[in-house]
Amino acid sequence: MALPADYHMHTPLCRHAKGEPVEYAERALELGLPEIGFSDHSPVEHDDQDDWRMLADELTEYVTKVEYARETHPSLPIRLGLEVDFIPGHEPWIKEMARRHDWDYFIGSVHYISGKWDFDNPKYIAEWENRSAEEVWSEYFERLTCAAASGLFQIIGHPDLPKKFGYYPKRDCSSLYSTFLAACEETHTCIELNTAGLRKDCKEIYPNIEFLKLAKSNNVQISFGSDAHAPHEVGLSLDEAVNLAKKCGYDSYCTFAKLEKSIVNL
Ligand SMILES: [Zn+2]
Ligand SMILES: [Zn+2]
Repeated sequence: MALPADYHMHTPLCRHAKGEPVEYAERALELGLPEIGFSDHSPVEHDDQDDWRMLADELTEYVTKVEYARETHPSLPIRLGLEVDFIPGHEPWIKEMARRHDWDYFIGSVHYISGKWDFDNPKYIAEWENRSAEEVWSEYFERLTCAAASGLFQIIGHPDLPKKFGYYPKRDCSSLYSTFLAACEETHTCIELNTAGLRKDCKEIYPNIEFLKLAKSNNVQISFGSDAHAPHEVGLSLDEAVNLAKKCGYDSYCTFAKLEKSIVNL
């Protein structure tokens, strides 16, 4: 099977990934990936918010690392992106980052709810015991819908991330998905098929199959990402993600160059 572009990979600047972009690119070439994109955890407005992302004054170093990978492997199209946390009120900061470099795309992700709780961080997993899954999922989707509606992102990352540790609401979530997908359709924002979920407790690609079928019926387009935090994770399980996409009726996906979307057949 021809593998798709892998648009979600990190660098050591986020403090929890290993390997230089040039090594990720080498692995991509070994696998025969047609294109890759880096989307490391962006800085947030306040550097002291957490310890798992690059700092604001490291953005230029990040760009330099990606440019070095481009120069070293000119046969591989390498895109420059960021995985940006959507935090309400931080829109001016996101726009400011967008002006700083020649980005190909931004992935908008929600890792925080209820102020600064990064609900997917194993360090703070105990907080899940104080909260109902219903409440967490609702708050997450409310924020994810705002992220999609903002039009600040080309792609929304791992759109059902709250399933990571296996905490699921008892009620049917389709109305949460539909509201979010309507915002994606309106702003022409893609959603990401992210294979990292297969390596977590949920043992499933983000998003789940019902969610993805609903996305297809809402005309929401897709991209692919391994969420690699080390070179050996590049392209991991993308074949499974392609199968899932096809099962849900997709026959194409999106790539981005300087924020311009292209459609690629699967
Ligand atoms: Zn990460
Ligand atoms: Zn993420």
